[in-house]
Amino acid sequence: MRISFDLDDTLFVSEEKFKVEAPLRFPFCAIYKERLRLGTIALMKALREQGMELWVYTTSFRSEQYIRGLFRCYGIKFDNIVNGARHAREVQAGHTEAMPSKYPSKYRIDLHIDDDRSVAENGRTYGFHVWIVGGQDDNWTDHILKEIERIRKNGAS
Ligand SMILES: [Mg+2]
Repeated sequence: MRISFDLDDTLFVSEEKFKVEAPLRFPFCAIYKERLRLGTIALMKALREQGMELWVYTTSFRSEQYIRGLFRCYGIKFDNIVNGARHAREVQAGHTEAMPSKYPSKYRIDLHIDDDRSVAENGRTYGFHVWIVGGQDDNWTDHILKEIERIRKNGAS
């Protein structure tokens, strides 16, 4: 199964509003200022152990190298990264009409995790599956693991 994660307000969160993973040690904390939602590291490890393929799908223009470098500091490796530039090149290019801001089914992603409800609405229109994460929730990773289990059993409907 292929699972993608949004970055801003999904994995990268404000430490004022959310419980976050421990900061990186110097000098990495000076290079990578984003803070990870608490539970991210354990969730990625659990998904890896289940044999899941892990992707990032962000509309931001952070470079692939930056994103990989940041997560490497936490021991997290992604299989593939779609950023705003790649999306523009591979999804939007060649279409005169506006394509959805994210189009996970283009990459055969089975489940996309995001904080933006408009992405879920696009999922209903364009036929891809989205799980929305909200504000601080100690059990957010359990909800995702349960949803994955449900999709495995019933398919993404
Ligand atoms: Mg977001």
